[in-house]
Amino acid sequence: MTDRGEPDAGDENEALPELCDLCGTVVADSTELYAVVPDSSVVHAVDPRLDGKRMVVGCSREHLAELVEQYKGRPFIDAELWAGKIGRAIEARGGKVTPEELTEETGLAEAQIELGMLWQNLGALRWHQRFGGEGPPESTEDRPG
Ligand SMILES: [Zn+2]
Repeated sequence: MTDRGEPDAGDENEALPELCDLCGTVVADSTELYAVVPDSSVVHAVDPRLDGKRMVVGCSREHLAELVEQYKGRPFIDAELWAGKIGRAIEARGGKVTPEELTEETGLAEAQIELGMLWQNLGALRWHQRFGGEGPPESTEDRPG
């Protein structure tokens, strides 16, 4: 009753140290700078309005500017973004989703979903080519020419 210690309430939710995305420096004094850059490989966990946007952190104005430059040079590929949206929708439905649900969940047109799927499959195909194996299970490859 007598000993009333000071409450140890830190302001943890206010000032979390950030890491510079360029050099990895820990910024603990809240002087970090933020920018939002376009990145088609990013889909937000829940909010579709934040899809295709990546938040980058820089320890200085110079580093932030360099990060923004780097992302400017990255191609923004719609199909990649759509593939991400499709993946999120499938996950949200526990792996089983009808085409109708997919269009509803992603807000994409059928043609966009097709392209997104194609992008996804292309990625898998490249993986097979690079890391060997027997190739895709079904040999439905079209020979060029
Ligand atoms: Zn830095």
